[in-house]
Amino acid sequence: AYEAQVAVEEPEVHAFLHLDFDAARRRAAAVDAAVRAGHDPGPLAGVPIAIKDNIVQEGVPTTAGSRILEGWVSPYSATVVDRVLAAGGVIVGKTNLDEFAMGSSTENSAFGPTRNPHDLDRVPGGSSGGSAAAVAARFSALALGSDTGGSIRQPASLCGVVGVKPTYGAISRYGLIAFASSLDQIGPFAATVDDAAALLAVLSGHDPRDATSAPRGPIVSDPSDRDVAGWTVGVVTELAETADPAVAAALEAAARHLERLGASVVSVSIPEVAAALAAYYVVAPAEASSNLARFDGVRYGLRVEALTTDEMMVATRSAGFGDEVKRRIMLGTYALSAGYRDALYVQAQRVRTWLAAGLARAFADVDVLITPTSPTTAFRLGERVADPVAMYRSDVCTVPSNLVGGPAVSVPFGYDADRLPIGIQVMAPAWEDARMLVAARALE
Ligand code: GLN
Repeated sequence: AYEAQVAVEEPEVHAFLHLDFDAARRRAAAVDAAVRAGHDPGPLAGVPIAIKDNIVQEGVPTTAGSRILEGWVSPYSATVVDRVLAAGGVIVGKTNLDEFAMGSSTENSAFGPTRNPHDLDRVPGGSSGGSAAAVAARFSALALGSDTGGSIRQPASLCGVVGVKPTYGAISRYGLIAFASSLDQIGPFAATVDDAAALLAVLSGHDPRDATSAPRGPIVSDPSDRDVAGWTVGVVTELAETADPAVAAALEAAARHLERLGASVVSVSIPEVAAALAAYYVVAPAEASSNLARFDGVRYGLRVEALTTDEMMVATRSAGFGDEVKRRIMLGTYALSAGYRDALYVQAQRVRTWLAAGLARAFADVDVLITPTSPTTAFRLGERVADPVAMYRSDVCTVPSNLVGGPAVSVPFGYDADRLPIGIQVMAPAWEDARMLVAARALE
């Protein structure tokens, strides 16, 4: 059924960079045979899943949306891929993304944009736009994305699906092509909170191959627990104010809905969140400028030959990286350079600590926080490409949880006048992912 859906709609949506339903059918048959032989096939038995193309799978091409990796085939699998397969999952392909996960619309992919299944003239969000579109268009039941500053939650919101960014350290990053290592987390996309929670339980738990993986067990949550009676829910004033009228109305409706379920809803001012976007766009490019140094024409993918090694590297990186990636490398290198480092990078890290204190203060009085996931619904293709700062502003509500490491989820909650989906974000303190999922279920 998923394959038939792909045949009809994928040519227009372009969610995938690599699609292999032959391999998926073989794999499904093997899972089926295991069931018939009396083996427990695992919690994802036979479930089709799409993988963002910055997560590696042995023997499968991985591009991260970049020409610099075109044609590169990974010799190993990410821990999350191993866990999906061990749980019986059926991988259908690798999904499109903004180059190296840098963007909010999937328009920065070197291989052309993905389109929003709800309206093909609009973006699916990004950077995990292919994964969000794949679940929204029913090309797969589940998908994996990565979220450095909102790249799971914002596309989930724009495509009308559930997307979870778990607590930093909950899911191994081994085999995720690094963008900003102190912010990156892999997480699930699904049509429902319970499906996302089931995938989260499979993905999470300690992995010795990632030094930042926390020595904890998997994140398990009770699918029947959706009870927020007696909870205090905070609406973050500064983020509510970023919303356009339709999104603001949905946030208001979500607050009233939680009240009807017995929660008390209060407005919470966290002035520190106003500085999060600026801090993010220093820290993320700084880490990216270091992480992307490995793409040098020697080790992976593209090489543009030249007379000297230096000239080869310059020619390879000039041809292989797109404009946004070059912009981030320049911004990051500048922010880390002698003379500017203290004023930019070190200051941004101070803002990060200050933001964590602001959120901790808020969480002393509330169980969860709710915000818009994105200030707007899906925008038109091309609308923000010429204005990087307008694109960056798409992330204003999502970057705080990356900077502090806490969990956040986007849940679909209604539509605007053009029938475009709206998402509500639920945030919780670090390691309270299960608490966050209770509130997310209550919003469904
Ligand atoms: N849109 C943000 C950026 O461009 C976040 C991307 C992400 O989470 N990978 O950096």
